[in-house]
Amino acid sequence: MLQRPHLTGFSRAELVALFAEIGEPRYRADQVFRGLHGRRSMAFDEMTDLPKSLREKLNELASASTLTVGSRYTSVDGTRRFLMKTHDGYPVEAVFIPTESRDTICFSSQSGCPLKCDFCLTARLGLLRNLTAGEIIEQIILVLNDVYGVGGETPHGTNLVAMGEGEPFLNFENLIKALEIMSDETGLFIVPGRVTVSTAGIVPKIYEFAELDRRPNLAISLSSANDELRDKLMPINKRWPIHELLSAAKAFEKTLKRGERFTFEYVLLGGVNDSDKDAEDLARLLRRHDLRKVKINLIPHNPAEQLDYRPSSPEQVKRFKEILESLDVSAYIRTPRGRDIYAACGQLAAKEEPNLVQIAGI
Ligand code: SAH
Repeated sequence: MLQRPHLTGFSRAELVALFAEIGEPRYRADQVFRGLHGRRSMAFDEMTDLPKSLREKLNELASASTLTVGSRYTSVDGTRRFLMKTHDGYPVEAVFIPTESRDTICFSSQSGCPLKCDFCLTARLGLLRNLTAGEIIEQIILVLNDVYGVGGETPHGTNLVAMGEGEPFLNFENLIKALEIMSDETGLFIVPGRVTVSTAGIVPKIYEFAELDRRPNLAISLSSANDELRDKLMPINKRWPIHELLSAAKAFEKTLKRGERFTFEYVLLGGVNDSDKDAEDLARLLRRHDLRKVKINLIPHNPAEQLDYRPSSPEQVKRFKEILESLDVSAYIRTPRGRDIYAACGQLAAKEEPNLVQIAGI
């Protein structure tokens, strides 16, 4: 299917160029950018500050929205999962996670995922396709409009995390372009400091990321301090083993400013990677690589029928954290959110659940 250009994925400069091509002045491009991103409008017809003839012209040659929301599930803890579809039928999932102090939106960078992490349900989808910059932004616009009202102001503390479906560093260009567009102050104005990108360890991209001028925060999914186990849990480790990954992490660390830190995520799998020795090995590994500006996010495994793992006991999770802290490593336990609606980490697998609470289409 031939797609009309999706203007949500155009940078301001690209919009200006396109408008020049169709004989429209620059300020019209700025108006459309403000309409799409500042007011989060998803139809040219809503942009009543444009002459009707221009709206008609835009309707003919471009689109302001390409995703459709299939279902929206709400968890007992207030988390919402949005299951959307691209114009060509691929699933895209985003999750809204409210807390008392701030809201977080978790978005997808790919439909499905090519990495075969053994404990993750998204892996079972395989890679369906990369999302375009426009699709990445539009999922966030859809969520923002749903939770804060169409065009409603985004609360200042709202965070974005690229931790939905997919491996962000395997769709690097589109991701970085989307983040750049979202940071524009006449648009969504979500600055890089409010964004965290999580990678399973695509080493060359970590180096590239470290060189970026205005870049988001970084999280690296580690989940084991030894290659033998990590090969099995996260097969990407066979391509870039732990010492290469942590050397890249060290290079990244060197580019941090005073007071900044980055994160390692560690999924705790009962009886697999959660022993006292595993915690000690992890602390030793970080010391060996001289990694100081790090914190560890401990993520209790979110189980699923198709997955062969179980979560660690709450006592062992606590113990793991205490061992790390006793060895001078900061560690935080992440509370699972939205497990009941398949919205928690590693649970995004485009699940349609007729018996889940679902709110009528938006
Ligand atoms: N591909 C990227 C982005 C996904 S982020 C990455 O791997 O970092 C998703 C996070 O959830 C990762 O830290 C991943 O290790 C974790 N995760 C995957 N499956 C999980 C599960 N079943 N339970 C808890 N966390 C899981």
